[in-house]
Amino acid sequence: MGRAFVYVILGGGVAAGYAALEFIRKGVQPGELCIISEESVAPYERPALSKGFLLPEAPARLPAFHTCVGANDERLTPKWYKENGIELVLGTRVKAADLRRNTLLTATGETISYKTLIIATGARALRLEEFGIRGTEGENICYLRSLSDASKLVDTMNACAGGHAIVIGGGYIGMECAAALVTNRIKVSMVFPEAHCMARLFTPKIADFYEEYYESKGVNFIKGTVLSSFENDSEGKVVAVILRDGTRVATDMVVVGIGITPNTGLFDGQLSMDKGGIKVNGQMQTSHSSVYAVGDVAAFPVKLFGGRACRLEHVDSARKTAVHAVNAIMGPGRAPDLDYLPFFYSRVFGLSWQFYGDNRGDVIHYGDFAGARFGAFWVDRGRLVGAFLEGGSKDEYEAIARAVRASVPVGDLAELERLGVDFALRVNAQDGKSTGGGGLLQTPAYPWHAAAGVAVAVSVAGLAYLYGRRRKFL
Ligand code: FAD
Repeated sequence: MGRAFVYVILGGGVAAGYAALEFIRKGVQPGELCIISEESVAPYERPALSKGFLLPEAPARLPAFHTCVGANDERLTPKWYKENGIELVLGTRVKAADLRRNTLLTATGETISYKTLIIATGARALRLEEFGIRGTEGENICYLRSLSDASKLVDTMNACAGGHAIVIGGGYIGMECAAALVTNRIKVSMVFPEAHCMARLFTPKIADFYEEYYESKGVNFIKGTVLSSFENDSEGKVVAVILRDGTRVATDMVVVGIGITPNTGLFDGQLSMDKGGIKVNGQMQTSHSSVYAVGDVAAFPVKLFGGRACRLEHVDSARKTAVHAVNAIMGPGRAPDLDYLPFFYSRVFGLSWQFYGDNRGDVIHYGDFAGARFGAFWVDRGRLVGAFLEGGSKDEYEAIARAVRASVPVGDLAELERLGVDFALRVNAQDGKSTGGGGLLQTPAYPWHAAAGVAVAVSVAGLAYLYGRRRKFL
């Protein structure tokens, strides 16, 4: 027994929600589209899980942060899917895919067939046991990828109010969780092997700023080391972590953010892979012509990087690749190849940063590192390739995005350092004057409101006012 659809989206996360809206805009008819998701709720804005969801007061809860609220679009509640005749198959894991027969087999034994498949399976959090750590069954060990993970984290935080937490990992999940824990009045120690936090993006100078800020909030950093084991009580709960050098750190709970791995397993041997994900072309089409892949799972060519394939683990890319795939599917041969400017952001406490492009080449810091309005530019072979800005205004973020997209030539690095964000503002202004806006700088790949994910990426503490009074959901 089984069902058949014209279009099936496998996975019900951020990308699935944005794809669904685009399908409806492009005229998909009731009964043609199905979304299959292991999660038991309709697609939602995942970044909210480490931000508004963890607030101690007026926390965000569904339905308030269903997609596509993060791009100021319609909020797609389960009612919306029903009204539009989209079949939501929730709480259902797909356990096998047969791309030759165009079928998916669910864990409940149903076969679902399609004409066109979009793979939007995202990624899963890496687990400590995969690195040989023992004692990881403790109920007070938390991960954060799904709504159920976030609910468990909230329960665990509530059970150890006033206590101590250890955060394993210094990436954005670790940093955002640490901020949330502090906001919930839990003392935090962060443990990670790198020399500084956010090592994949931050320079040591940028990291210094955030580490000092976190320390001012009471966070203790234990850097350059890893966890080697847990000490558990008689009920199995973790009471301490043991570090590689034998140091014992007592704790009431543990949050693990050590990275993710894309969910590609169903397609091993059936599709071409790249960068640990599913390889697609500029139409988001895989090596199988009726199968597309989007979001965290897809490795796609970034024109701005000379066509280099990238697999991005960020929400803006999930949204844009999803919409692009639907356009390619609904208008075959008409959609140009995706021309994407990599973008990501984070907001913690009262801080907020955005990054555009690539962090290769020479790095030039600028701004006031003491006053929380600073940034960095990356210049490669005489051209601007990346920009980071903390504490910028809407115009400034827009300006750095446009300058990176235009690969502005940079002759004088000292001048770039002196001008800082004004460099981008001036380039934008000059472009507007000399060409009426259509010259050196082209319109950014996405407008501000869509790029920022403004509604979702609000800070854990700094914008509590906003949460409480104006956007209760985030
Ligand atoms: P997901 O949103 O992960 O969705 C994948 C879906 O597929 C899930 O519902 C999953 O259950 C389902 N699935 C997988 N396998 C199967 C299967 N076999 N059968 C059925 N269903 C399946 N990015 C930023 O840029 N800024 C941020 O501030 C930010 N904050 C974040 C905070 C958190 C806590 C997390 C976890 C991520 C954050 N991200 C952020 C990253 C961003 O959320 C992801 O890039 C985005 O969710 C990717 O979307 P996706 O649709 O590809 O995957």
